[in-house]
Amino acid sequence: MTASQLQHPALAAADPELAALVGAEERLQAETLRLIPSENYVSAAVLEASGTVLQNKYSEGYPGRRYYEGQQNIDQVETLAVERAKAVFGVDHANVQPYSGSPANLAVYLAFAEPGDTVMGMALPMGGHLTHGWGVSATGKWFRGVQYGVRQDTGLIDFDQVRELALKERPKVIFCGGTALPRTIDFAAFGEIARESGAVLVADVAHIAGLIAGGAHPSPVPHVDVISTTTHKTLRGPRGAMLMSREEHAKALDKAVFPGLQGGPHNQTTAAIAVALREASQPSFRDYAHAVVANAKALAEALLARGFDLVSGGTDNHLILMDLTPKQVPGKIAAKALDRAGIVVNYNTVPYDPRKPFDPSGIRIGTPSLTSRGLRTEHMATVADWIDRAVAAAGTGDEQTLTAIRAEVADLMAAFPAPGLPV
Ligand SMILES: *Cc1c(COP(=O)(O)O)cnc(C)c1O
Repeated sequence: MTASQLQHPALAAADPELAALVGAEERLQAETLRLIPSENYVSAAVLEASGTVLQNKYSEGYPGRRYYEGQQNIDQVETLAVERAKAVFGVDHANVQPYSGSPANLAVYLAFAEPGDTVMGMALPMGGHLTHGWGVSATGKWFRGVQYGVRQDTGLIDFDQVRELALKERPKVIFCGGTALPRTIDFAAFGEIARESGAVLVADVAHIAGLIAGGAHPSPVPHVDVISTTTHKTLRGPRGAMLMSREEHAKALDKAVFPGLQGGPHNQTTAAIAVALREASQPSFRDYAHAVVANAKALAEALLARGFDLVSGGTDNHLILMDLTPKQVPGKIAAKALDRAGIVVNYNTVPYDPRKPFDPSGIRIGTPSLTSRGLRTEHMATVADWIDRAVAAAGTGDEQTLTAIRAEVADLMAAFPAPGLPV
C-alpha cells in the first residue's frame, strides 16, 4: 500500500480511480515549490476537521436560532468558530458561514446596496478582485462599479484618485484590498475617504488575513465598517470565508448571508475554520506570519539582484508581482515553463499592462506555502536562482534546464515535508 492509500483506506477501496488522483495530487503538492500567493498547506488537524461527519448535518440559521433540530453539537462548533474569530481579529461580530470569498462579498452588497447603486473598488487589472465591481462579475452587472487603480510611476494606490472618485460618484460601498497588491494597505486613508463620502468601507483582506492575525500587517479594525476574508489563504484554514464587523452591522450581515444568499452552512468547514483560528491564536502562528513576510522580502531582494522588475519595487507582505517585460518573456510562457520546472506560479496582469489579460506581462508569486513547509530567508537565493534560470530557459526553449531544476526543487522539498501530506 502507498502512503496515500494508508491515509485514505476507504476511498482507495471504494474508488481506486479517484483515490489515484488524490494520491497524484498529494505527490504534486509534496514535490513542487508552490508559489501561488493565495495558496497554502493546511495542517493535518484542519484537514481532519473538514473531513468529519459534521458534513452530514443541516443547520440553516444561527446558533440557538435554527430551522432544524439536532443542533446540540453543531451550535457549539459554530459558536467556537465565531468566538475564536472575534478574539483573533479583535472584532465585535463574526459570521463564519459564507461558502467562499466571492459569496461573502456578494452578501456585503446585499446588506448595504440596492441593484443599480454605485459601488467602488480597485480595478481587476490593477490588482483588485472580480467581486469589487468588475464588469464580468455579478457585482459589476447588478451594480454600477467605479474603479480606482495604482499610480503608474510608483505602483502604489492613487489616493488622490480614490478621494476624487469617491466624492464625485458617492458610492454606497467602497472595497479596499485585492489580489495582487504587494504593499501594506493604508486602511486609515481609506477610512477617512469613506467617512467624507458617506460610504460603507469594506476591507477585503482575503490574501492577508493570516498576516493580520499574526501581527505582520496592520489591522483594518479601527478604520473600516466591514472585514471580508477568505479562510484558506495566509490564514491557513479550509476553503471558506468570514464577514466581521462592529455590532451595529451584525444584523444586516447575518441576514444577507442567511437567508439572503445561502441555505445551510457547511458545518465541516466551520469546524475546520475553528481549528485554523485556534492555530492562528498560538505564538507559533505569529512566527509563521512574520516569516512569510521576511521570506517575501528576501526573495524580492534576490530577484531584484538578478535584474527582475518588481511592481512597486518590492514587497511589504507575502506577495511579489513581477513584470517580465525586461526579460522579454511573456508571463504565460514563463508560468508554463516554471510549472515544468516544478515551480508553480500564476501569470498575471501588471498595472497598465499593454498585453491582454489571458496573455499578460507578469507573474505573481508569494511565500505562504514555502513558509508553512519551513523554508526560511537563507533559502530564498536558491528560489530566486531557480526562477531566474527557468525564465531564461523559457526564453530559449531549453527544456533540459527545466527538467534539471525540477529535480533540484524536488530534492529540497523532500527535506521540508509539507503539513497535512502523507509521508
Ligand atoms: C481570493 C479572493 C476573493 C475570492 O475568494 P474565493 O474563495 O475564490 O471566492 C475575494 N477577494 C479577494 C481580495 C481575494 O483575494
